[in-house]
Amino acid sequence: MWIDAHCHPDGLADPDAALAEAEAAGIGHWILPGTEPQQWRNAGQRFESDPRIHLAVGHHPWFLPVTEPDVSELESELDRRPHWVALGEIGLDFHIASNAAERQHQEDWFTAQLAVAAERQLPVIVHSVKAHDRVLSLLKRFPQVRGVIHAFLGPYEQALAFIDKGWCLGCGSLILKSPKTRDAFARLPADAILLETDAPDMRPHPALYANPLLDLLQTAEQLAQSRGVSLDQLKAQTATNVRRLFQKF
Ligand SMILES: [Zn+2]
Repeated sequence: MWIDAHCHPDGLADPDAALAEAEAAGIGHWILPGTEPQQWRNAGQRFESDPRIHLAVGHHPWFLPVTEPDVSELESELDRRPHWVALGEIGLDFHIASNAAERQHQEDWFTAQLAVAAERQLPVIVHSVKAHDRVLSLLKRFPQVRGVIHAFLGPYEQALAFIDKGWCLGCGSLILKSPKTRDAFARLPADAILLETDAPDMRPHPALYANPLLDLLQTAEQLAQSRGVSLDQLKAQTATNVRRLFQKF
């Protein structure tokens, strides 16, 4: 079955119906990243007993507290519920940072959370927008940390820079509209690619399906075609990649 390595079912209008329809279409597991403390608690309560949903926890760069980095809430959440599969989504979004101080604030929070991932040996889900070079240089401080650059957008050479560090890249609907990203994913090593939707965000235009979770099939079709592999090969390879990275299911 397909695995969606990054989506937000807690943001869907009717998660139960959407998940049931996606499951009937052959998608069997979903990684649900965290964004901020209230969301962690809500998603934990709602989905922690659902064996199809695998939860991550982290301070998303869009929702950072204005205070200096403080990972105590994150640490206590990690202690409280041992089922978390990853730290994330954390990272840098320089599209929303309007000045150097805001960029630094994001970097401070990102670095503090990477230190937690290193200490607890957790994989990381990274949100990187207009910030790949900076993310790469911060990751140098944590050579033992592995993870995925979610919804990677960029050229082949930049993708390779992450893969050289042992990282994976999340392939979402951006390959449908960005030729350079499509080219990157066509040529990357097969064991470094995860499929994802980021549903309900980042929908393809036009979307073939009403249910955003089914966007995975539309992206998979394009990726299989670009790489010259069958859908079954792609399904098996990307599922293996997700299980290798997150390990807990
Ligand atoms: Zn996301």
